[in-house]
Amino acid sequence: MKKLFALSLAMVMLISLTGCGSTPSNDNGENQNGFSTAVKGKLTMATNAAFPPYEYIEGGQVAGIDAEIAAAIAEKLGLELQIDDMEFDSITEAIKGGKADIGLAGMTVTPDRQEEVDFTVSYATGVQVVIVKEGSAITSVADLFKEGASHVVGVQRNTTGDILTTGDIEEKGFGTIDRYSKGAEAVQALKTGKVDCVVIDSEPAKAFVAEVEGLKILETEYVNEDYAAAMSKTNPELYEAVNQTLQDLIADGTIQKIIDKYISVE
Ligand code: GLN
Repeated sequence: MKKLFALSLAMVMLISLTGCGSTPSNDNGENQNGFSTAVKGKLTMATNAAFPPYEYIEGGQVAGIDAEIAAAIAEKLGLELQIDDMEFDSITEAIKGGKADIGLAGMTVTPDRQEEVDFTVSYATGVQVVIVKEGSAITSVADLFKEGASHVVGVQRNTTGDILTTGDIEEKGFGTIDRYSKGAEAVQALKTGKVDCVVIDSEPAKAFVAEVEGLKILETEYVNEDYAAAMSKTNPELYEAVNQTLQDLIADGTIQKIIDKYISVE
């Protein structure tokens, strides 16, 4: 490992000495390799670091699957990675406004979001699951929409859990939705009895349930989803570069290796 580091350091030095590094930029912020980024020489990632194991704070830094994927992409493109932590809600706006280059946040591809941003190839799948208190009368997803159902459902605001339950439950008169800015807050509301269940992605669900006693994840799944990176529709050169790089990292097994570090196959 040390040897490898010394070797790559030597290579970096060689590259900067010969002046042919992979990040040269001209004065208007455009990289010589044909794309421009929000900040010259950097790949700026927008995320919401409250979604373990995809993104969470560890030692004051954003860690997790998405952070590692972004780091791998940035390295291949010769860019320095910068991660901006924000509300999940704000990611799409940051991308649209050109403040961030790539939104990586366990973000599900949906038709509505596709109107706002371009998605790269999908790099992972997710599942919406239901968390309940042990012994809850809700024993399957179907209980949420059955005749006479009237539950209070906790979700993270503007996530697919929110969008789905709003349509399937609230709008059909099967209950109400309580929206929280973080998934963990929705789970706390379940613990204290403010909501009857929480609908959220399965991996953060596992992480939250492991930390709060007396909760469990129902075995039936709500829906399956594809995660992809969100990018601006108005920067096709950068989109092509990132999307191609991500495809390469999927093809050579790098992405799977990163995911396997965080998620064990049951
Ligand atoms: N996958 C969900 C969505 O895209 C949740 C993502 C998140 O909370 N970071 O809406």
